[in-house]
Amino acid sequence: MRFNVLTIFPELLTSPLKEGMIRRAIQENRIEVVLTDIRSFALDKHSMTDDRPFGGGEGMVMKPEPIVAAIRQAKQEKGGGRVILLSPRGRQYRQKEAEDLAGCDHLILLCGRYEGVDERVREFYVDDEISIGDYILTGGELAAMVIIDSITRLLPGVLGCEDSARCDTFSRGGLKYPQYTRPREFEDHCVPEVLLSGDHAAIAQYRFLAAAGLTRDKRPDLFKSLRFSGSEIKLLKKNGLL
Ligand code: SAM
Repeated sequence: MRFNVLTIFPELLTSPLKEGMIRRAIQENRIEVVLTDIRSFALDKHSMTDDRPFGGGEGMVMKPEPIVAAIRQAKQEKGGGRVILLSPRGRQYRQKEAEDLAGCDHLILLCGRYEGVDERVREFYVDDEISIGDYILTGGELAAMVIIDSITRLLPGVLGCEDSARCDTFSRGGLKYPQYTRPREFEDHCVPEVLLSGDHAAIAQYRFLAAAGLTRDKRPDLFKSLRFSGSEIKLLKKNGLL
């Protein structure tokens, strides 16, 4: 899968791409990340990518010409691509969006700066507008990295264990059960006994109930939309979780 990030600050992304799972995914050719400097498409001798807003007002707005030229080049290089504008106005990014986008071959991630991009870019050259949350970042680069990271770990072969993504928080719509590792006892705090029992059915049941309890208490909004089987409902009721 190819990600092409269109930005005026490509250096902001170089470090996160050099570490951990993302670095390995690049080395193993599971993903390709191209950083395109929008400034190199600027038309004037000062490489201007922004200008004052028509009608007056605060701040600067990113000009359409360099952005559209960068989009066209990105599409030409790969024969198409889905253009996503990172924007606080976009639809909210969740695990479901990551799963859907993981099916694409080529994502072109357009990062705004200043007061954002000229509205004509959004209207005529962008396929999708995504927000990573209800807060304002100084630019779209960190949001683009969030998208690259969350999609990459869903791609086949990227996680060591294929089950890992399936068991993650949100994969079934709720939160993941709590996890523990050695030592068994840390400053008088013990690991739940059942996890040491070797009884796989009991462990699965403990984890199911713990995940349901956490989701109910911390994210009642998610809990409401969870779907359970008949036997799960019985178990939840027996344990006072429904
Ligand atoms: N003036 C804009 C507004 O009020 O909506 C905010 C512009 S923001 C300072 C600059 C850029 O950061 C945006 O164009 C967008 O690309 C990016 N950005 C900011 N918050 C974001 C968010 N929550 N999700 C995705 N991108 C965001």
